[in-house]
Amino acid sequence: DIACVNGRFGPLADAVVSVEDRGFQFGDGVYEVIRTYRGRPFAVDEHLARLERSAQALQLSLGPSKAQWGTLIEEGLRLSDLPETKIYLQITRGQAPRDHPFPVPLLPTTVLTFRELHPLDVLVRQTGVQAILLEDIRWGRCDIKSVNLLPNVLARQRAKEAGVFEAILLRDGVVTEGSVSNVMVVRNGTIQTAPEGPRILSGVTRAKVLELAKKEGIPVAETMVRREDLLGASEVFLTGTTVEVLPVVRVDGQAIGSAVPGPIAQLLSRRWEALVG
Ligand code: PLP
Repeated sequence: DIACVNGRFGPLADAVVSVEDRGFQFGDGVYEVIRTYRGRPFAVDEHLARLERSAQALQLSLGPSKAQWGTLIEEGLRLSDLPETKIYLQITRGQAPRDHPFPVPLLPTTVLTFRELHPLDVLVRQTGVQAILLEDIRWGRCDIKSVNLLPNVLARQRAKEAGVFEAILLRDGVVTEGSVSNVMVVRNGTIQTAPEGPRILSGVTRAKVLELAKKEGIPVAETMVRREDLLGASEVFLTGTTVEVLPVVRVDGQAIGSAVPGPIAQLLSRRWEALVG
């Protein structure tokens, strides 16, 4: 496995940043996860655009230009030479004596890691997964892909301890998203999902799946989904870079529909495979 720290490539095991890096001390940074399909990185432009938006929202610069990030990604893929790769990108506000205001001068730390991607078990994809509902205790800017993932970490751990795949988060009884995914439901033949805004991370997969749905003539509504709407939905599915389109068949132990992957999730999963294949 390969890493790149501030433009220098080397073995991942040898890659280090300072203990005074603000990413380590304050969670003062942003990140992206990109995956390859057939060895090629998928939706790089969308991910780099979001990285830039996240960085700007924290008054942080992208560091390398988008073109330079693209070159670093290509170089890392060439060096790591894996069948499929999970590419992690991170920018932090750099190394400085611990003090809350931004350091002057500012030298961001940029990190890329390249690790083998292990696709989700086909059987899991075919049978669907289970989820639990949890209170969304995150901050007011969930649209920023910041490295502050403590609420997500705690939620996913709760899911793991409950023996299920994902934690679906509720704010004031309304579904926001999953701890590592966006959430879509099907009600009366319409796909409903939380609108973009500060309460969710606008997923690259979410946008592409909504496009695929529209192409299929499936109505889409970016609207509030209440807890009872989700539990009474005919289908629930997750979208995300690593989960792709993943049906949820039980939530808090309650069956969604007949507790098997529904026709719309299955159709969109096939269309997703065609898009990336
Ligand atoms: N929501 C959260 C909280 C996430 O961490 C992710 C990341 O995968 C997503 C949604 C899905 O985003 P994307 O489709 O861009 O991977």
